[in-house]
Amino acid sequence: KPYRVWETHKVRTTCPHCATGCQFDLVVKDNKIVDCLAADGPSNKGLLCVKGRSGSFDFVHADDRIKYPLIKNKKTGEFERASWDEALDLVASKFMEIKKQYGSDSLAGFACSRSPNEDIYMVQKMVRTCFGTNNTDNCARVCHSASVAGLAMTLGSGAMTNPIGDITKDVDAILLVGSNPEEAHPVVGMQIRQAVAKGAKLIVVDPRDIDLSKKATIHLKLKPGTNVAFANGIMHILIRDGLVDEKFIKERTEGYEELAEIVKEYTPEKVAKECHIDADDLVKAAHIYAEADKAPIIYCLGVTEHSQGTEGVMSMSNIAMLCGKLGKSGCGVNPLRGQNNVQGACDMGAQPTDFPGYQKVANPDVIKKFEDAWGVKLPTEVGIHATDVFPAAIEGKIKGLYIYGEDPVVTDADTTHIIKALKSLDFFVVQELFMTETAQLADVILPGMSYAEKEGTFSNTERRVQRVRKAVDLTKNPEFDIRLDTDIIIDLMNRMGYPQKHMTAAEIMDEVASLTPSFAGISHERLDSEEVAGQGLQWPCTSKEHPGTPIMHVDRFSRGLGWLYPTTYKPSKELPDEEYPTILMTGRILYHYTTRAMTGRTPGLMEIEGKSFIEINEQDAARIGIKNGERIKVSSRRGSVETTARVGDKVSPGETWMPFHFPDGNCNWLTNAALDPICRIPEYKVCAVKLEKI
Ligand code: SF4
Repeated sequence: KPYRVWETHKVRTTCPHCATGCQFDLVVKDNKIVDCLAADGPSNKGLLCVKGRSGSFDFVHADDRIKYPLIKNKKTGEFERASWDEALDLVASKFMEIKKQYGSDSLAGFACSRSPNEDIYMVQKMVRTCFGTNNTDNCARVCHSASVAGLAMTLGSGAMTNPIGDITKDVDAILLVGSNPEEAHPVVGMQIRQAVAKGAKLIVVDPRDIDLSKKATIHLKLKPGTNVAFANGIMHILIRDGLVDEKFIKERTEGYEELAEIVKEYTPEKVAKECHIDADDLVKAAHIYAEADKAPIIYCLGVTEHSQGTEGVMSMSNIAMLCGKLGKSGCGVNPLRGQNNVQGACDMGAQPTDFPGYQKVANPDVIKKFEDAWGVKLPTEVGIHATDVFPAAIEGKIKGLYIYGEDPVVTDADTTHIIKALKSLDFFVVQELFMTETAQLADVILPGMSYAEKEGTFSNTERRVQRVRKAVDLTKNPEFDIRLDTDIIIDLMNRMGYPQKHMTAAEIMDEVASLTPSFAGISHERLDSEEVAGQGLQWPCTSKEHPGTPIMHVDRFSRGLGWLYPTTYKPSKELPDEEYPTILMTGRILYHYTTRAMTGRTPGLMEIEGKSFIEINEQDAARIGIKNGERIKVSSRRGSVETTARVGDKVSPGETWMPFHFPDGNCNWLTNAALDPICRIPEYKVCAVKLEKI
């Protein structure tokens, strides 16, 4: 160890990477984090993955942190150091000028899904009170907005129904759809592996071979983009073979007749042909799921990131409702959310449609409540989604944009159109830790603080609100002239004419609780108390006495009756053709987290995986004369990248897969920004490409 234990102290906090919400202790020596040790948290039970263990602190102390405000010199195009007063005055005055000239809806502001709830709450409050628009969003738009919309429509609440421990312990079967938890949510993956070792049957539904598919009873290696056909096929079998829970359907749901009529035509044979799977395996999978007493559905971006993503999510709800597997231990519909606090970003109202706690902008009573509390007239029109902000910027409708901690140039589909949109803006501000590809295009960069430098809370994928605690104070370092992110926002609000008093993170959470029924019982004081004992609180938590809600929808769905949503399968928007004959899917790998802004600053992780690659089936590789490890050009209608071929049989012939973490050969130059009509998520998981040997 690079330290003596007695020279250090530990700070218990929450992992800043994926939404599993693992608890760990940052080990601090002389105001520097020197280690990270697993704690016995409710979702990780003493486990950590490689990202959490070794990728959670190097970035905090990285030399290339943005250390002071920067303003771009218009003549030279170079960033120049500015004082806080200069930078904040410029930002506030520019946004107010644009508002005056073009109206409130010409402005938009995105919150950071990696930042604490308290920061996010203040960003959406600034956008609503100062910009005067509901054009606020967060990166859930490009990962799980389909879950938020789809689960809310069918069940009444857009969140995971059961806790991680509940769906991985003593279950009889697991239906894992479009999810590779051993790479994306590794501590959940470990717990699924343990469940399988104890006898749970695992059904993997994924177009790729993942490590868990080797442990699966059945792997349905379906054609990318055919989730709804698969789900309708499962429902056809459930109804045909008398596997449905008739009592549950009668008492707890609506829409059965219409659904049954639609799935009638999805016979196993027809679905097998469409999905490129075996009809008998589909029948077996339906029986395993339905006949198991405890069987959760766990899913991820393989379901959501499609032009039919919301209906894919609703199909997961349908399957669970038909079998009565909701509101029960060991069951439910369970999206594994991506970023550490993407659940919280949605909960805190960084959405164009919702105030905190999913209180609707469209509801006049909600508007009145927030107007009374915030003392200002609020916009009543629903805002535009993040993925619609970019085309609106190109069209000249969005003139000013504030991005806190997101890097859409790397993460969003069709990089060319994102760059064009950001360059079209009159004024663009980024609040960031590092000079990301997006930050480089900003007019002003405001340096933020990392999770290890502030107090707050994250909400993990299972709706568990847990504490984030300050471990180090980099303002003691004379090189740094940085501020708390909430102080930056509050200073801006005051400069834009809204009298916002400075508040601690605990005070901000008290304000959230006072306005948000599902958070009414949550406070820092309570989270730190012996009563909660480091277990966090799972919302809905409706009073100071409420213990939180581990399992949702027990006696009734949040919307009353569950809605069995009928839908037909629609193919992906861009299918392979003669010119672009191969399907490209995108995804994540174990060693990195989104744009690598954090994990990319840990040398050990970069040594293991530091460059982009593409997985190609051996038959396709032979056809174009590519060997494993050779360089390859991949092109779509939107752009081309060069990368390294990994040849094998993880993907089927005619299909490829790339991770999205790497700036060299970033797959998002290729991906298609075709949007789901309901939630506006792009179709990252299917686009057409051609492969050429370099
Ligand atoms: Fe962090 Fe997720 Fe790994 Fe847990 S599983 S240590 S939350 S990255």
